[in-house]
Amino acid sequence: MTRTVYLNGDWLLETEAKVSIFDRGFLFADAIYEVTAVIGGRLIDYPGHGARLRRSLDELAIPCPLSEEALLAAHREIVRRNGLDEGLIYLQISRGTADRDFAYPKEAEPTLVMFTQAKPVLDNPRTATGITVATLPDWRWERRDIKTVQLLYPSMAKMEAMQRGADDAWLVEDGYVTEGSAASAHIVTHEGVLVTRPLSHAILHGITRANILDLARADAIAVDERPFTVEEAKGAAEAFITSATNFAMPVVSIDGTPIGTGRPGPIAARLRTLYIEDRLATAL
Ligand code: PLP
Repeated sequence: MTRTVYLNGDWLLETEAKVSIFDRGFLFADAIYEVTAVIGGRLIDYPGHGARLRRSLDELAIPCPLSEEALLAAHREIVRRNGLDEGLIYLQISRGTADRDFAYPKEAEPTLVMFTQAKPVLDNPRTATGITVATLPDWRWERRDIKTVQLLYPSMAKMEAMQRGADDAWLVEDGYVTEGSAASAHIVTHEGVLVTRPLSHAILHGITRANILDLARADAIAVDERPFTVEEAKGAAEAFITSATNFAMPVVSIDGTPIGTGRPGPIAARLRTLYIEDRLATAL
């Protein structure tokens, strides 16, 4: 099926949407993005993604080309035009097109692109098996809190993890896990405490992470926001990742070491259920 995509105010067939070779997203990775899950044609956690989008733009002094209302309307419209039932919406805003120069151009118009990807997010078969991860050094830049399209290193890390026989990478800095290649990383201790790295410039401020932590606290699961080492993670009762399209996904081994029983754990499963219930109730 040929999708209908959004480009700077126009709805176009995906084969017809073109961006300039001078776009700064292409030349400098001078662009930010968001991914919003869609279930039953409704937007999951949209306010969180909208807020983070604005924060990323502010950090880079890129003006937002659409008002809050127009952005939400465009999300709804792309779902409608593509008949999207389940999957995701990808949105990217670059600083725009200008002759190549390291200094930001004074008068570039931001480029706003949106497209959909249909895929099962609710009944992801990996939830039953969990995923395996390999640890790799975190060689990304230091402003990981800004959701930029500089995704080459996470992509390299994922490839290296896959070459080592794992599904994905967990990134490590100074002995402590930062996050996954495209997800927040968490563990559960044998005392049942959910341990997760606190927010800082070192990690993306995951929208799913924030909701999962609220749901855990409301469900009397203790939460400890502190860094954890690879060794602690390998000895934990459970490990899991969170992201917009994975919700909460169990991690069953790290560098070949089984976590807990080596099977998906009860707390990750419980949080996934709570998250889905809660987010469906608030979907737009
Ligand atoms: N960390 C990184 C590096 C990511 O790329 C992502 C999602 O793309 C996340 C964490 C999870 O963020 P969210 O829950 O907002 O999808």
